[in-house]
Amino acid sequence: MNDYPHLLEPITIGDLTLRNRAVMGSMHTGLEDFAWDIPKLAAYFAERARGGVGLIVTGGYSPSKRGWLKPFASELTTRLQAERHKEVTGAVHDEGGAIALQVLHAGRYGYTPFSQSASEKKSPITPFSPSAMSTKQVDRTATSFAHTAGLAQRAGYDAVEIMGSEGYLINQFLAARTNEREDAWGGTATRRMRFPVEVVRRTREVVGDAFPIIYRISLLDLVEGGQTWDEVMELALLVEQAGATVLNTGIGWHEARVPTIITQVPRGAWTWTTRRLREEVGIPVCASNRINTPELADQLIADGTADLVSMARPLLADPGFVNKAAAGRADEINTCIACNQACLDHAFANQRASCLVNPRACRETELVLLSTRRSSTVAVVGAGPAGLSAATSYAERGFEVTLFEKDAELGGQFRLAMQIPGKEEFAETMRYYERRLSVLGVTVRLGTAATVDLLSAYDEVVVSTGVEPRMPDIPGIEHAHSYADVLNGSVTPGRRVAVIGAGGIGVDVSVWLTHTPSLPGEDLDDWLAHWGVGDPSLFVAGLTERKPRTPAREVYLVQRKTSMIGKDLGKTSGWAHRAVLRQSGVEQISGASYDLIDEAGLHLTVGGQFRLLEVDDVVVCAGQESVRRLYDDLLAAGRPATLIGGADLAAELDAKRAIEQGMRVAAEA
Ligand code: NAP
Ligand code: SF4
Repeated sequence: MNDYPHLLEPITIGDLTLRNRAVMGSMHTGLEDFAWDIPKLAAYFAERARGGVGLIVTGGYSPSKRGWLKPFASELTTRLQAERHKEVTGAVHDEGGAIALQVLHAGRYGYTPFSQSASEKKSPITPFSPSAMSTKQVDRTATSFAHTAGLAQRAGYDAVEIMGSEGYLINQFLAARTNEREDAWGGTATRRMRFPVEVVRRTREVVGDAFPIIYRISLLDLVEGGQTWDEVMELALLVEQAGATVLNTGIGWHEARVPTIITQVPRGAWTWTTRRLREEVGIPVCASNRINTPELADQLIADGTADLVSMARPLLADPGFVNKAAAGRADEINTCIACNQACLDHAFANQRASCLVNPRACRETELVLLSTRRSSTVAVVGAGPAGLSAATSYAERGFEVTLFEKDAELGGQFRLAMQIPGKEEFAETMRYYERRLSVLGVTVRLGTAATVDLLSAYDEVVVSTGVEPRMPDIPGIEHAHSYADVLNGSVTPGRRVAVIGAGGIGVDVSVWLTHTPSLPGEDLDDWLAHWGVGDPSLFVAGLTERKPRTPAREVYLVQRKTSMIGKDLGKTSGWAHRAVLRQSGVEQISGASYDLIDEAGLHLTVGGQFRLLEVDDVVVCAGQESVRRLYDDLLAAGRPATLIGGADLAAELDAKRAIEQGMRVAAEA
């Protein structure tokens, strides 16, 4: 008996028996787009299959050029392409896994001037207006889905997934928001449903009776003019009748202004909608979105919410997620922290996806930690993200590693990040590294400031002594506190606070300062209410009035630049952080110069006008300076050392760069 019997129980869908109910959901990585990346894609999926996941779903493949996500993006339209996919399906099967190909037509989300949709309405997140499909083109497009599914079957895929959610073409046909047609494919809700129903029906005709067809249904559109709950339930039954084998669930269009998967979204936030769907249909249902632990996945199956659980990013973060859970080693799982920084932010910026906590993701053939033949000792100094990554990566290669940390705890800047409301998941990364250090036998010396003498005993030295907050040269700066002192609890700010510096940390600290905790057990209800998400059977597409937040403090967030505050935050999460600032009443001041800090508050000049912010405290979030004293001492003593992380380069340092550099330096040693 293992700890997760429900998650690990096999399930049969159509003619396919899955070894467990964990599904690696679809995630576009950028490796799908070109034939020359197929070996890398095969290695990426094979590693996940080796890690025990029941079913993998590929990134989306378009059934036609007009359905491309971007110019020359992934498509599966020819036999030659299908032939090439055999390398991917073969690699997964060799590892005992199963794999489904997702068929995705981008519709008006296509980043091309040739995009097509149900109508000509442009999406707010792409620069191109689509052309409206003619009646004949709609018919041909429905058939093209089935054709691509047939090619997937020929290529050795075990199933297909029809992408009907997240606001892509099928969703565009379903919603009055985007379907303004008056022909047989629009006009009434039933006619708008005809397109997905035909897609599934024709696909079933092509692939035969038993081949699994997964249909990803949009349970909550979360956009104005989206589907009603009754329409979604009617569609679910129609799609089931048309031949779908499984219903996977999607939440929110990409253009929705409600976050659905980032860290601040409570775990399992949408599973109540999956449960309601499952009560209405006769085929297995798959839960998705913000499910990142085996405990939650198992519970969802045990309590009847779902039959399968889809986890895309958690499988990027840890390919061995399922095997670790099955072997009683769940505490060794490298948990996805839902930051989006290396996966979706990369995908939307046209870069290859990876993972902040697992830089090997999508680089399985390039970033390899080979066993070493040398019996060298390595000292890593500083246990922030860069140092933790270096220490564990060296140890994984077989080096004998000692990790020095001057503080009493591991984590450095990461320990501060996890104090931010909505970033609590960062604690999982600390748990992962602590466990990994122990499993790999790294000697950890906490509360020890390494010296040149101490380090002379080691063959190799890696310096990751991190950063310290920059305290700018403003008259009266001694009256201000650094963000580190606030977040580590050394200082408790008063009711009115000014924040100097509006980068990522300034925004985070403003969120921390204004946050009012929910009553125990009401986190999810509060969170949904703040974002205006209501019962979809009462409110169309699940959208209702937003409940204002009650800020815990009055906060001013100030920067010298004149640009929009938070402009450089993550592509897929920055808008949500900016919205929280607005909801919390944070006054944002750009184009300021700092004149003085004194007992009265923060004196500014903005647009040539003097202004006094009468605050109790001023918190400085003005970036960081590298801490390199030890490195300089080592160099002066003629002792070579490798400098990484914030100690190497403080500007624009983030955990993604630090963890990647730590691993890379070990891989190349
Ligand atoms: P940052 O993003 O570089 O921002 C620091 C801000 O301080 C600058 O925007 C700058 O704005 C101001 N500043 C710099 N020097 C100053 C000076 N001498 N006097 C007054 N103001 C000064 O650094 P951070 O906020 O410390 O964040 C560190 C890293 O973590 C960044 O790479 C960031 O992207 C990352 N991070 C990201 C997130 C997220 O995406 N949510 C959250 C936290 C951290 P002005 O010059 O305009 O005043
Ligand atoms: Fe998860 Fe962040 Fe990794 Fe994406 S980059 S898979 S969100 S941890």
